[in-house]
Amino acid sequence: MNATSERLHPIPFKDWHLGLDRPLLIAGPCSAESEEQVITTAKAIHALGKAQVFRAGLWKPRTRPGSFEGAGIEALPWLQRVKAETGLLTMTEVATAQHVEASLKAGVDMLWIGARTTPNPFSVQELADALRGVDIPVFVKNPINPDLQLWIGALERLASAGLTRLAAIHRGFSWFERTPYRNSPMWEFPIRLKAAFPELEVMCDPSHIAGSREKLGGIAQQALDLGLSGLMVEVHRDPLNARSDADQQLDPIAYGALLDSLIFRQASPTAGMQDRLQELRDLIDQIDEEVAQKLGARMEIAERIGDEKRAQNVAILQPQRWESIMRRMLGLSQQLDLSPAFVQEFMDAIHRESIRRQSGVQSQLPEVQEAQDPKHAQSPSLSGGLE
Ligand code: PEP
Ligand code: MN
Repeated sequence: MNATSERLHPIPFKDWHLGLDRPLLIAGPCSAESEEQVITTAKAIHALGKAQVFRAGLWKPRTRPGSFEGAGIEALPWLQRVKAETGLLTMTEVATAQHVEASLKAGVDMLWIGARTTPNPFSVQELADALRGVDIPVFVKNPINPDLQLWIGALERLASAGLTRLAAIHRGFSWFERTPYRNSPMWEFPIRLKAAFPELEVMCDPSHIAGSREKLGGIAQQALDLGLSGLMVEVHRDPLNARSDADQQLDPIAYGALLDSLIFRQASPTAGMQDRLQELRDLIDQIDEEVAQKLGARMEIAERIGDEKRAQNVAILQPQRWESIMRRMLGLSQQLDLSPAFVQEFMDAIHRESIRRQSGVQSQLPEVQEAQDPKHAQSPSLSGGLE
């Protein structure tokens, strides 16, 4: 898919005239909770001498009502104090025109649009209209659902309102299956966004992808290895007592240790062949890892289907089902420019493994073997189908 756009003409950080460059480090608490919490956290971040931007959510989109929804406009003077006392640029999330108006009036330096707002074109348009004529930097988080067009569409709406300093933030996607992370990283999305808009700065928010302190470092390193533009990390002076996202926030000391442990790629890789090759190899490694994760998830589901068939005493092999899977996949292979022979071979291998996994489920369970019709008890072969 080619996502080039007439409307979006991204410019790199170094041309934002704010003294920013890659990798950009943004840090601060999930939510601004109190003046003391904001100022103490900001001073500790500033003392590390690495981050240039202080983030804090003033209006918090919460999944369920009754949770802490942020300090709101009351916290704007706290951000002003952060700027005056540390020199860090300040940044907050806006979801409505009122948030924009209040933030602009208080001199907040940068804004971000959250993952629950990006997918709603009405909300994004409302923000774009409120921002018309004010060229403040705006970072757009990916929509919670994996839809590249919505992400691009939000950036385009802002660009059409005259904003030029635009960047994206990859924060992972909600996923219905169990994943090792709070939000599935699905790196192919930031990769495709970068491929469509090479100049667009695409940051990573490893905090919301990982969902836990333990997994945050690995995600942050992957983002840097992929050449993303920087990191937005949730840092709180006392994470265990944070009023939102307590599991994933780092205290300032742990944040410093994280930055020390990460390997930062060269800010601007030389154009040498070796670098280019390495970049492409990194992308391939990343995609292979995702293919492996997806295969693992697929086999787990195949086993669940095996359980289900066992419970209902149904045969593993279901030829019509397999035929319909293959028809679909061969159709997709055409759209994706893959050779049908390759897709056939790949799917056959998947099929064999699925049969093996489902047979495993059945043979573990002697009562089914006993109850089965003899023609279903034969060993599975590729002439049939399953699932
Ligand atoms: C946040 O950054 O605190 C936040 C709410 O993020 P997201 O919109 O990515 O969930
Ligand atoms: Mn958060």
